[in-house]
Amino acid sequence: MAKRLATDVCSVYLQEPDRPDLTLSATVGLLEEAVGRVKLPVSEGLVGLAAERRAPVVVERAREHPRYRYFPETGEERFASLMAVPLLLRGSTIGVLVVQTLEERAFERHEVESFLTCAQLIAPIVVNARLISIVGQSDESTVAAGSTSAGVQTGESARVQRTRTQRLQGTSAARGIAIGPVYHLGNPLDLASLDYLPGESAQSEERDLMHAVGEARRELDAVREDLGDRFGPDFSAVLNAQVQILEDKGLLAKLRREVRDTASAFEALRNVLAGYRETFARIEDPYFRDRILDVEDVGRRVMEQLIGERQHLQPLSQGAIVVTDNILPSHFARLEIEKVGAIVSEHGGPTSHGAIFARTLEIPAVTGVPGIQQAARAGETAIVDGAEGLVHLAPDERLVEEYEKARQHYEIAIDHLDALRDRPAETADGRRIALTANCGLMGDLRLVDRHGAEGVGLFRTEMLALVHRGFPEEEEQEQLYDRVAAALAPRPLTIRTLDLGGDKEIANLRSAHQDNPQLGKRSIRLSLANPAAFRAQVRAILRASTRGNVRLLLPMISSRHELQSAKQLIDETKEQLRVDHTPFDTDIPVGVMIEVPSAALIADVLAQDCDFFSIGTNDLTQYTLAVDRGNEDVAHLYDPLHPAVLALIDRSVRAARRAGIPVSLCGEVATNPLAIPILLGIGIGELSGTPSAVPIVKEIVHALTSADTEAQARRACAASTAQEVHRIGAECLEGAGLLEHPDIGPWLVSIVQSVTADD
Ligand code: PEP
Ligand code: MG
Repeated sequence: MAKRLATDVCSVYLQEPDRPDLTLSATVGLLEEAVGRVKLPVSEGLVGLAAERRAPVVVERAREHPRYRYFPETGEERFASLMAVPLLLRGSTIGVLVVQTLEERAFERHEVESFLTCAQLIAPIVVNARLISIVGQSDESTVAAGSTSAGVQTGESARVQRTRTQRLQGTSAARGIAIGPVYHLGNPLDLASLDYLPGESAQSEERDLMHAVGEARRELDAVREDLGDRFGPDFSAVLNAQVQILEDKGLLAKLRREVRDTASAFEALRNVLAGYRETFARIEDPYFRDRILDVEDVGRRVMEQLIGERQHLQPLSQGAIVVTDNILPSHFARLEIEKVGAIVSEHGGPTSHGAIFARTLEIPAVTGVPGIQQAARAGETAIVDGAEGLVHLAPDERLVEEYEKARQHYEIAIDHLDALRDRPAETADGRRIALTANCGLMGDLRLVDRHGAEGVGLFRTEMLALVHRGFPEEEEQEQLYDRVAAALAPRPLTIRTLDLGGDKEIANLRSAHQDNPQLGKRSIRLSLANPAAFRAQVRAILRASTRGNVRLLLPMISSRHELQSAKQLIDETKEQLRVDHTPFDTDIPVGVMIEVPSAALIADVLAQDCDFFSIGTNDLTQYTLAVDRGNEDVAHLYDPLHPAVLALIDRSVRAARRAGIPVSLCGEVATNPLAIPILLGIGIGELSGTPSAVPIVKEIVHALTSADTEAQARRACAASTAQEVHRIGAECLEGAGLLEHPDIGPWLVSIVQSVTADD
């Protein structure tokens, strides 16, 4: 970096977790001896200032600055100008990156920006390096990879007992809290530990290898069937990808070539897998990178056939926290899944097939936790907080108690409320509200039934595209939609056309690089640019509409022209089906998602050309407030209860009312207790959210009255800040007596308290 920015010095100062000092940890240009010796508190020096402000510090004449501090060890007096940027990870400062020059120099804006970018890239590397060194140094690791670790001395033998709780951060893959003993699911592809004696010739090895492939294929068929029976057709569909891999001519040719070269079936398989691993590792798109797991899973299956051995799993204890390298689809067939409390993986991301399965089965899961396999000890207690992507190893009693309480509250409430699932959702004065679910998989329908949702208010169709790495086959879409429609009928099903791009990126459907993908060619824009694929999807939806309960929803409409273009394609598709004598629901309602401010502002116009509105507050908030919904750095600005967002919701509802069309809301805020009274008061007639939240929303709806919600909604729409709206929401919950509710009261109290604390 020193070279790139043409500076004389570049140094890294790191802050140890739980320590106030910054330590000079590496340098080019300062005296080597100073490394590890120069320590300064965050409150001192220009370097400390960057850490304290968590923002860049750029000073042309450093020595004249009041925060300048001199360290003779560094030989620093010779340097004139300085630029320091903090190393931040998930909002915590872990160090500071600094460049200095001998000559006075004003750093330009683009230099500061590129230095900041470097800091962003370096921060996770620093954390990983720290973790690796910790794990390598000692088995009694006491320091978290991230920034925090709760310190509680147990006083027991340091050999077997960790001295402190260790908190590791990963990525949330499936919500839920689990507390249980750690269970290591060893890496089944630990090829180094496998014994293999090759046969006498390359030909016999090739024969054995191809036989193993054939057997693996047969086994896969059986597993596919079993998974389908146990968990639903989505599960077996995912394994189709693995069947395809096993049938892939390229893979088979590679295996044959390798086995001829090495005269060992084992070597051949190992080399081919290593090659795939290397190739996948270079892929930028995380979804595609995660697909290596399917190849690995298949490879393991062939390997087991080859060596005639199977990975023997130790019996699971009830509620076990399964710690593994990657969450693989085959784990769901091998493990006694009813006993699994949570799954945590060191690698992979939330889009891997295994993670998707965990979500569908409501098993809390966290992926991508650096060092977890080394850090977690078999049998020790761990807490998994799926929603936050957190794992606490060897938690102290207080933490266990806290999480246990939260988990019990939630479960008791859900069980109790689920038992009342057949009660309709209506306010205390009898206004009927439809409570529906957001789904994306066939397997999700189990949750719809379990939690008593009245139908599916939003069926996201991206999942199939994700599984297929592109536009899915029409036939497969048709089968899925028809199965879902049949399973739900006569309950309603709203199928949304593909909403790819933005936060649901698929590399090979992306056009060229887009600087602002959220504002780019995504969603309906992508569909209109690929009319053949759009028509195919519409045809599949229309065919399923014979079940009589299907509505078609268009995402991200931003203009009348877009709506008309989409409708024209729909009309043409209908015409084609008529000509082919293919039955479909000729009155299928076609709706528009109101998730772009322009759509809300011209809602009156759009309402003329569609049959219903579905308000998508996730995107509406992002676009109204200019806050990227996936960017942690601006997450504190993202608030669907911002008065500007409420104004657009209100405007859309009024337009719908004038046109006489129904309006639902399907963003995450639909299940936010503070928002429910206000949304009902504005006039939303259907709330669609995550299935498990339906019973809670129902309880809240029951306690409210129309007159009260309308009055409070008027106040909320006139509020000047989001905080004010939160307060109004909190008052509504309190006024309706919900804080004393035996099941959800304690949880609502904590929400109301956090609103008060914000004040
Ligand atoms: C929304 O934007 O509010 C919405 C429901 O759609 P998605 O989250 O799939 O973008
Ligand atoms: Mg959206």
